[in-house]
Amino acid sequence: MRPTVTEPAREIDVVHETDVLVVGAGPGGLAAALGAARAGVEVTLVERFGCMGGNITVVGVEGFAWYRREQTVEAGGIGWEFEERAKAMGAAVPESQSLSYELDSEGFKVVADRLVQEAGVRPMLHRQVVAPVMDGDRIIGIITESKAGREAILGRVVIDASGDADIAMRAGAPVHQTPVEEMLAASVMFHLAGVDKAAFLAGVAADPQTYADWSSGEWVTTTDGKEDALFSPYLGKPSRQAIEAGVIPADLHTIGGTWGALHDTGELTYMNLVHLPECDGTDPDSMTRFEIEGRRQALLAIDALRRFTPGCANARLRNFGATIGIRDTRKIDAVYNLTETDTRGQGRFEDSIGIYPEFIDGYGVLVLPTTGRYLQIPFRSLIPRGVRNLLVAGRAIGGDKIAHAATRNMSCCAVTGQAAGVAAALAVRSGVEAADVDVAAVQAQLVHQGVRIS
Ligand SMILES: Cc1cc2nc3c(=O)[nH]c(=O)nc-3n(C[C@H](O)[C@H](O)[C@H](O)COP(=O)(O)OP(=O)(O)OC[C@H]3O[C@@H](n4cnc5c(N)ncnc54)[C@H](O)[C@@H]3O)c2cc1C
Repeated sequence: MRPTVTEPAREIDVVHETDVLVVGAGPGGLAAALGAARAGVEVTLVERFGCMGGNITVVGVEGFAWYRREQTVEAGGIGWEFEERAKAMGAAVPESQSLSYELDSEGFKVVADRLVQEAGVRPMLHRQVVAPVMDGDRIIGIITESKAGREAILGRVVIDASGDADIAMRAGAPVHQTPVEEMLAASVMFHLAGVDKAAFLAGVAADPQTYADWSSGEWVTTTDGKEDALFSPYLGKPSRQAIEAGVIPADLHTIGGTWGALHDTGELTYMNLVHLPECDGTDPDSMTRFEIEGRRQALLAIDALRRFTPGCANARLRNFGATIGIRDTRKIDAVYNLTETDTRGQGRFEDSIGIYPEFIDGYGVLVLPTTGRYLQIPFRSLIPRGVRNLLVAGRAIGGDKIAHAATRNMSCCAVTGQAAGVAAALAVRSGVEAADVDVAAVQAQLVHQGVRIS
């Protein structure tokens, strides 16, 4: 048994009250805040870091819609707007394999600032949410910890967009977590400077990689077959050559993955080459260990690129993401948990709040939306059991592994976020519990906001 200490009870100032209180400013929370504000209520967005964007800005995940092909059918809405606005503000470059743009992880900070300001959302940054404020089984607010100490913020509806279901879990909602040995790997992302763009692209053209090449290395990726011959911005060979040359230790087979955005200025960003299995994103000791291990592996990867990848001889580390990237932690047990059958079988639901193309990426499965097939997302998958007045948006919504491999993607997080925001706003406006909101009215408002729901 560990020793314990007793934390004394204390009075905490209520520093702010709002209609819709969103925790977490990633693609899910940002879309939730914007969707709610545009539906006409007062919105507050609480975030632990100093910028909004979540994984886009703090981890450096720039590939917002790299799955998009000609036939892909999507929801549109605020996710689409993220890309369009980033393009308009010079914060996006074309993605190498799809009909999409890479969001610039630094530039998107300003895109998010601008969107939030224009919508009249009140951002409250630099506040880590540490506890819910409960009235029985009904959530009525949150407690934050910051340089100002502890503060309470009350909201008429709360949206948990923390990615990790922090609020739902602490409020007492049942959550489940993939066993650590089966979790999607974590990654330390890095960005390079000093790449010779023309030489790099000539190298890619001379030896183009496909999705079939992923299975020639450490990973076994099951596809539908139609993906195998498609071009993939995959970098596997440099690390294999580096192992043969003794540059990378022979037992380190997991270095490899995708290159991201290539800039005229010689920056090669969103380098997704370091994969760290068995990192538990809810355990700070595990995260500490893998942050350090990930940086070590990133430097090995850069060494391999310098030696064996055309155009990279003078490449240097420009920056790491501000934090390790976590893909897989808690998921709520929702009123309806999406299933693999729904995800692979074009699930249809009367309470659909948005569609998502048949795009599955995770747990050894890759299905790209090269057809017009798509899934509807039910409102019930955003409603946790056991806690009233709480909605969940983003990667912690209810579903099994394969469903998660679809809904965790950032553009889907924007779909569930916008829907949670609109539902919360309409609940406030009509004076009902979030779960009891008129779904037809939510659907109508989402369509009004430009979301395809069927
Ligand atoms: C390395 C990596 C590569 C990926 N590649 C892709 C890709 O190419 N394309 C794609 O679509 N998806 C990709 N993903 C998945 C995708 O980035 C995430 O699933 C998605 O960002 C989840 O969005 P979210 O809004 O739910 O959470 P997040 O983006 O994680 O945002 C959550 C926000 O909540 C804040 N927060 C968390 N807890 C608290 C708290 N207690 N108090 C206050 N604030 C809090 C966080 O700081 C963060 O800003 C990748 C993920 C990783 C890690």
